[in-house]
Amino acid sequence: MIMIFRGIKTLKTEWSVKMARLIEETDYFTLHFLSDGVYGAIAKHGQGAWSNAGIVDLGDECLVFDSFSTPSAGADLRRVAETITGKKVKYLINSHYHGDHVFGNQAFIDATIISTSMTKDLFKEKNKIGNLAKETKETKDYLNQLKIQMEKSQSEVVKASFVNQFNEMSKVLEDLPIMKLVFPTLLFEDKLVIEGSKRRIELYCFGGGHTPSDTFMYLPEEKIAFMGDLVTENLHLPIVNPLEFKSILDKVRLMDIGTFVPGHGIVGKVDLLESVYDYISYLMEKSNEALQSNQSLETFLSEFQTPEPYSKWRGMNGIKDNLSKVYKFLDR
Ligand SMILES: [Zn+2]
Repeated sequence: MIMIFRGIKTLKTEWSVKMARLIEETDYFTLHFLSDGVYGAIAKHGQGAWSNAGIVDLGDECLVFDSFSTPSAGADLRRVAETITGKKVKYLINSHYHGDHVFGNQAFIDATIISTSMTKDLFKEKNKIGNLAKETKETKDYLNQLKIQMEKSQSEVVKASFVNQFNEMSKVLEDLPIMKLVFPTLLFEDKLVIEGSKRRIELYCFGGGHTPSDTFMYLPEEKIAFMGDLVTENLHLPIVNPLEFKSILDKVRLMDIGTFVPGHGIVGKVDLLESVYDYISYLMEKSNEALQSNQSLETFLSEFQTPEPYSKWRGMNGIKDNLSKVYKFLDR
């Protein structure tokens, strides 16, 4: 099997982005061909998928990477995975605990669901679905708040982010009556390899930057990586640990990766990783400058002018939420 890819290795890397051609479209996502039997499922905005997923034909069975944010989108993903590969889904990977990557898990209840031990603990601790009436009320209240902020927002970019959050959360609300949390059952710490009859996949956790534990999936022969939210496109992604985030990306940089499938946004090359790296470096640099000149967090944030290209990036809280987090992190 290994030999099949050997002759076209360079070509595959060079053409990786061009090869990410759209081959199918559903209500929730567009499906992109990345390599024979490897597909990126790119979420459509505001439809209940919310984050990207991946489909990999392992030979005798198939694997899915992340499950979207609703059971309906998860079921659609499973249907497409099994149709396009002709194989049953045997494994589901959860890159991290965030609901937009794991609330579709119940569509894969009979598969082996894999994550790090810490992701499973965080999943149990942070994503609780309590009493339906209470959850419904809380979600509706949240939607009302979003609506108010949507109407108040001055910038078109911020407004669009609120609209997207509103649309995605409305889809979550629609699915609440059927939603069940399904937890990972196969746990690993820093590396797990699955050797299929057709190809090998490798799961890595180099620590936590976006959440306390972030996993990505690497296909060594195809040089494709499904990054979860360690790599996103033009997005003010939440950051919990900027130092560890950079050290994770430093390690990823050393790997031979031609195609990056981000957790949010379109498929790209290493420049996607570099843009996240530069963003975190920028947040750290500005926060350090403020701390060195004894600027209070309030003054720092109120005087801060968001430069291009970050003023165009998506994300409800913009850059200031991350600046505040990084400032507080470095102040510790
Ligand atoms: Zn996330």
